[in-house]
Amino acid sequence: MKQKSRLGQNFLVDQAACAAIADALGDLSRATVLEIGPGHGAITSLLVPRCRQYIAFEIDPPLIRELEFRFRQQPSFRIVGGDILTADFAAAVPPQEKAALVGNLPYYITADILLKLFAAHPLLDRAVIMIQREVADRVAATPGTRDYGLLSATAQMYARIETLFTLPPEAFDPPPEVHSTVLRLTFAPRFQELGVDAPGFDRFLKQCFSQKRKTLANNLRAAGYEPAQVAHVFTTTGISPQLRAEALPLEAMATLYHALLPDP
Ligand code: SAM
Repeated sequence: MKQKSRLGQNFLVDQAACAAIADALGDLSRATVLEIGPGHGAITSLLVPRCRQYIAFEIDPPLIRELEFRFRQQPSFRIVGGDILTADFAAAVPPQEKAALVGNLPYYITADILLKLFAAHPLLDRAVIMIQREVADRVAATPGTRDYGLLSATAQMYARIETLFTLPPEAFDPPPEVHSTVLRLTFAPRFQELGVDAPGFDRFLKQCFSQKRKTLANNLRAAGYEPAQVAHVFTTTGISPQLRAEALPLEAMATLYHALLPDP
């Protein structure tokens, strides 16, 4: 298959995996489905007949033309050309609706796509995405484990994460150099439940994880909090100042965030 490696074009050729990805989205009979990077349509062809409306986002003009031709008789199918990172999801999802999203992602922009999905969470209900195994392990990691970090904490503030299955390079043409893992994200932001505001808490998480080897207390001092204030909040919250950010569950992070907020 012709491939542009700079666009992360590793096409999925394992039919059972295509079916499992499509099935993982659940009932789509009333849904709008968004697909990132449909490629030659391996997943697209299974999903278009199942849903009410399908909008694919693809950057590569020959692939866009191929899919426009292939699905020309399917009125529910639309393809939007251009870079997914500048795509307007709000224009694609009907008002008052939440879409389901699917994608065997172009790995060179995985992190940016994830941030875009988190930012678009009010428009999304669930997402089934394939990403590099090591990145998937970080997204799904639990606090206190080696892989837990800023990406895990951020992702888990926006969605419940399930690891569905992992595929070897041979499932793709051409084979990538890495294994790939399929995750399901069920969007369920935790900001309200934890009593934190999204922009402030996102920023706080970045400060807490800014230097992985440093303790949380050190990272907070480096972020500009007064040393006396930092010492005080660890005493009042009972959280150990020796801990690193990766050891703390999100609930404890939210407690610290509150304790550090200036008095109203
Ligand atoms: N879904 C297909 C499959 O599973 O066989 C193709 C997946 S391939 C890993 C990634 C796809 O994303 C390719 O079709 C590629 O052209 C497209 N792509 C790469 N960069 C993109 C971008 N910035 N915006 C939109 N699509 C992009």
